[in-house]
Amino acid sequence: MARSNQDPAELAKFSALAHQWWDPNSDFKPLHDINPLRLEWIDESVELSGKKVLDVGCGGGILAESMASKGAVVTGIDLAEKPLGVARLHLLETGVQVDYRVVSAEALAAQQPASFDVITCMEMLEHVPDPASTIQACATLLKPGGQAFFSTLNRNLKSYVMAIIGAEYVLKLLPRGTHDYGRFIKPSELARLARHAGLQVEAFKGMSYNPFSKTYFLGQDTSVNYLVRCQSL
Ligand code: SAH
Repeated sequence: MARSNQDPAELAKFSALAHQWWDPNSDFKPLHDINPLRLEWIDESVELSGKKVLDVGCGGGILAESMASKGAVVTGIDLAEKPLGVARLHLLETGVQVDYRVVSAEALAAQQPASFDVITCMEMLEHVPDPASTIQACATLLKPGGQAFFSTLNRNLKSYVMAIIGAEYVLKLLPRGTHDYGRFIKPSELARLARHAGLQVEAFKGMSYNPFSKTYFLGQDTSVNYLVRCQSL
């Protein structure tokens, strides 16, 4: 299970684009644009300063580094090596400290269960074959009372139109083929997976895009992009 929960084609896609990761006008522009919103929600929920944080599927480190800048002690893990290389190089530019490691959430959970105060796993579950396994690993890695944040894409006609047709074909915010509709996850499904892993679902936030102002905002509308906060019991 631990070895198989990865899709080599997905990892190759992120490795091929890795050199662009920190260019705010690149294919990663959406991640740069949403980062302040999710960072603020996480920080107001858990007070990042001094917390031991794990960022699962951290890629080039946009969220991981920003959480470290807020004073968190951050470990970032990913199975694509090139994005992690870019993440490490970026630390040299900024002087921020993050421990980046090529390891799966499942393998780390076997090595050091119950060791993080906060876990973030953003825009990653829709790229793995077995999201239940990733969520279970995150639950195992959390200390009792710790909080986990997941974000992904909902699965319905609107999210298909907005996240694939709109984002990849019309507005060209993302390269074609970035997302596979079949891997999108409904909030009810994510909640069930979280509960099954022993997590209590605390709050959902919708993340929406206004194509006219070209800005993102957090609100109640979870029909396309959404985040969820859970607590380990
Ligand atoms: N979480 C980051 C990056 C999102 S892009 C952010 O929101 O800013 C998705 C990331 O998930 C990529 O870096 C990709 O390499 C990673 N990923 C995909 N499958 C993975 C797996 N099985 N284990 C760990 N990381 C994975």
